[in-house]
Amino acid sequence: RIAYVNGQYVPHEQAAVHIEDRGYQFADGVYEVCEVSGGRMVDQRRHMERLVRSLGEIRIAMPMPMAALDVVIRETVRRNRVRDGFVYVQVTRGVARRDHFFPDPSTPPSIVVTARSVDPRKADALALKGIAVITAPDNRWERVDIKTIGLLPNVLAKEAAKAAGAREAWFVDGQGRVTEGGSTNAWIVTAEGKLVTRQADTAILRGITRTVMMEVAEKLQLRVEERAFTVAEALAAREAFVTSATNFAMPVVRIDGHPVGEGRPGRVARALREHFHESAEIT
Ligand code: PLP
Repeated sequence: RIAYVNGQYVPHEQAAVHIEDRGYQFADGVYEVCEVSGGRMVDQRRHMERLVRSLGEIRIAMPMPMAALDVVIRETVRRNRVRDGFVYVQVTRGVARRDHFFPDPSTPPSIVVTARSVDPRKADALALKGIAVITAPDNRWERVDIKTIGLLPNVLAKEAAKAAGAREAWFVDGQGRVTEGGSTNAWIVTAEGKLVTRQADTAILRGITRTVMMEVAEKLQLRVEERAFTVAEALAAREAFVTSATNFAMPVVRIDGHPVGEGRPGRVARALREHFHESAEIT
């Protein structure tokens, strides 16, 4: 495997950043994960627009022009012979002597691009069974709309999920309402057949898959309501599911050990999953 690190393509096992990289020391950086399908990029434009937004919110300069980044992404996919898989892009504030204050503006941001293959049949097999989730208090900071590499609460919550035999943790705010998953957006389908997912303010990441699924839902003539829902509402729902670039739509069949609906993957999640790539921008 080959990784792109600050201007060079290097063997993956030798790919490294400096110990004084601000990503390493302060989680002072942002990232994106973008799907590769059939050797082509899925919704790259939207992911790159979100990268630019995340960088802007924490005042890191774009490390290279977008056209150059596009070349690097495609070259990384090519060198790794990825047909189906994912590209990871991470940008940090660069290398500087450890000090909380921003480094001198001349300090170049660090950029890493990697790509790896994933067998899409594995996720499809999982989607046939659905996943279990647990709930956990949302103890993250107030700007999770920025896709920062500071993911410790997400890591701890997902590890707790794993320990409980679940795949994902749903964060719950102080009012008992679900914000989102540790690495996914959360959805339910109400008894009336309405899709509900939390409004994209600063309390969730505005998932690219979430945005595309809204278009898919519209094409399937399903109603979508952007509002917060409670755990109780999710347990009473007909279906629940999560969305992300790595999961598309993944049915949720248990929440904290209680079945959702009939405890089986629902039709809406399956339909959204099947039709996702028709609405995604493939380039
Ligand atoms: N929410 C969180 C916290 C995430 O980390 C992710 C993806 O990694 C998502 C939602 C889903 O975003 P996307 O659909 O852009 O992958």
